[in-house]
Amino acid sequence: MADIVAIVGRPNVGKSTLFNRLVEKKQAIMDDKSGVTRDRHYGYSEWNGKHFTVIDTGGYVKDSDDIFEKEICVQVEVAIREASVIFFMVDAREGITDQDKEFANVIRKANKPVYVVVNKADSSTLIHASGEFYSLGFDLVFPVSSVSGSGTGEILDDLTAHYIAEDSGESAGDLPGIAIIGKPNVGKSSLLNALLGEERSIVTEIAGTTRDSINTRYNLFGKDFMLVDTAGVRKRAKVKEDIEFYSVMRSIKALQDSDVVLVMVDATQGFESQDMNLITLAHRYKKGIVTLVNKWDLVQKDTKTADTLKKEINEKLGPLDFIPILFISVLQKQRIFQAVEKAMEVYENLHRRIPTSELNDVMLGVIKDYPPPAIKGKYIKIKYITQLPTRTPTIAFFCNLPQYINTSYQRYLENKLRENFSLAGAPVKLIFRTK
Ligand code: GDP
Ligand code: GDP
Repeated sequence: MADIVAIVGRPNVGKSTLFNRLVEKKQAIMDDKSGVTRDRHYGYSEWNGKHFTVIDTGGYVKDSDDIFEKEICVQVEVAIREASVIFFMVDAREGITDQDKEFANVIRKANKPVYVVVNKADSSTLIHASGEFYSLGFDLVFPVSSVSGSGTGEILDDLTAHYIAEDSGESAGDLPGIAIIGKPNVGKSSLLNALLGEERSIVTEIAGTTRDSINTRYNLFGKDFMLVDTAGVRKRAKVKEDIEFYSVMRSIKALQDSDVVLVMVDATQGFESQDMNLITLAHRYKKGIVTLVNKWDLVQKDTKTADTLKKEINEKLGPLDFIPILFISVLQKQRIFQAVEKAMEVYENLHRRIPTSELNDVMLGVIKDYPPPAIKGKYIKIKYITQLPTRTPTIAFFCNLPQYINTSYQRYLENKLRENFSLAGAPVKLIFRTK
């Protein structure tokens, strides 16, 4: 389990500025040359060894200049229902506005921790004046300057000390947790229903202990697992799920609570930045990943189409090109059980333990064939390799000059590990150490 922090507040107070400061810049593994435009409104954040997802609710509101529109109201309600912590942002220079009061009235209903983030407190005068915001009725009032970053450390210290749980990284239950995530309309609920409709499946509904998720225990061909947070997918008729924001929140929560995510992509739309964003987030949370390109029945294809598309997706994914990609049609029940089998395979890879002797036999050979390039006349020698006892695969390379191993050599080693040991869909971390 992990947490979501939602930044809410009226337009122009500085939500996206703070968002950009809080989320990792480098997490967009995809860079500009991949040609996928970025429209990221949520991202991974780490502070004091704890992690959480930050979501900028403003990113989902269009044309909302000066009135407290219904649309904003819905966003805020969804945010306070789905997030674990609210950052309610106001503007120190403008003081409390009527719109702030309207936000406060909605936010007050949330039985959740609320931080009043008094932004643009760029001077000591403004910092001192920020006390007036206590009158909004919340106890946690923090002046910050999102532009300079001052004050943000204090708020994150408080947040991580009190409201962000230690995260084991595992799903709630003992069984592998699998989540179906993706943009609205890619076919998530169709896939779920197709799986649940399968006669051989034994279905037990277990109400989630945390949150409002309902996990479904699933058994198919001897594979026993949990479908995580299916409630959000199944209840779609009842909630205003058309709003992308809601769908994104549900996907993030399901992702956090699972071990392996099935990221569904719509074949008719191609691989888009939102798909990329979800995969990036899943990777940061060290989840196993399978990409399902759905609605394959709608694509005009010849024998090369799948390979071409696979190549295109992998180019966009860059270093994340180790994720299995399946072309499926839920409508025609094409390969949907393979999707589940693949997810189980990835789950095994996620927990793979490679014996030290095998690791050294194979990888020392690989290194001998193509040693790390010498730097400044110094030779780098990797002497010994071992897997560390972490939850997901971490491989330690012991060498004389660890600081000189460059990224492209690391990539080479990772690729060779993946070629030689079954690790598809699983994150692999390489570390370099002296003895
Ligand atoms: P949003 O609409 O709430 O997402 O607001 P933005 O993040 O787009 O910021 C609105 C404007 O406020 C931009 O011009 C920012 O540069 C500016 N801004 C954001 N944070 C600060 C701050 O801490 N101090 C000052 N002086 N300006 C800020
Ligand atoms: P969700 O929003 O991701 O849960 O998507 P839904 O499961 O509600 O599906 C959205 C639409 O896509 C529905 O009209 C489905 O019938 C349709 N759909 C789902 N899977 C397929 C498929 O494999 N092929 C085609 N042609 N349509 C599909």
